[in-house]
Amino acid sequence: MSDRIRLAIQKKGRLTESCRQIFNNSGLSFDEGERELIYTVPEMPIDLLFVRDDDIPALVSQGVCDFGIVGLNVFEETKFGETDNFNAEIFAKLGISKCRLSIAVPKNVRFNTLDDLNNLKIATTYPQIVQNFLRGKGLSAQIVRLNGSVEIAPSLKLSDVIVDIVSSGATLKENNLTEVMPILNSEAVLISNRQISDDKRSIANNLMARIGRALTMN
Ligand code: ATP
Ligand code: ZN
Repeated sequence: MSDRIRLAIQKKGRLTESCRQIFNNSGLSFDEGERELIYTVPEMPIDLLFVRDDDIPALVSQGVCDFGIVGLNVFEETKFGETDNFNAEIFAKLGISKCRLSIAVPKNVRFNTLDDLNNLKIATTYPQIVQNFLRGKGLSAQIVRLNGSVEIAPSLKLSDVIVDIVSSGATLKENNLTEVMPILNSEAVLISNRQISDDKRSIANNLMARIGRALTMN
């Protein structure tokens, strides 16, 4: 079998570290290097392509990469934004990099039920996920899209509430925000192009088996 798979990985960030750990625990080398765009894994027919995490779903959907490892939050955001030609799907959940996308409110905002969101301004990096959530609940609110520092939006009067990634809750606390409801539970997922060959699928299955064995040994 001469096929290799191309796997997109975050270039620098939380997922890079998680991926390095699961690869190394599975006996696979992992080196994002300084200048190299692509790293050839010597132990398996896998080439790693290092990119921004936000680009991973589109690269896989377009077939530039066969697979990618990305947060479910980023995958869902891209999927909801590209309903027509989206050609990527979840291959396996990895059970690492867990976090949640939650609604958080400042003290001056009354939040007892979801209806209290009606007509408020919501700041978020995930407008498609939030829009989809609101639609499902029959609510309407104005969404303000921010790429970072979402937690400061209420104090700047940019928004009334926020929807943001939470893990420990420390950032929310520092900004006097209270988490009131999760709207998505996220973890790292292995995604694949829908049209990959059986040979490539079997390489990914071997990778998952290796990762699974390493997790049960720890
Ligand atoms: P890039 O420069 O590649 O765009 P980024 O700043 O968007 O990176 P990171 O902060 O490295 O991304 O987070 C990557 C992913 O890690 C998130 O999309 C999320 O799935 C996951 N994650 C887990 N815990 C947290 C957390 N506490 N804060 C943010 N992201 C988290
Ligand atoms: Zn990102």
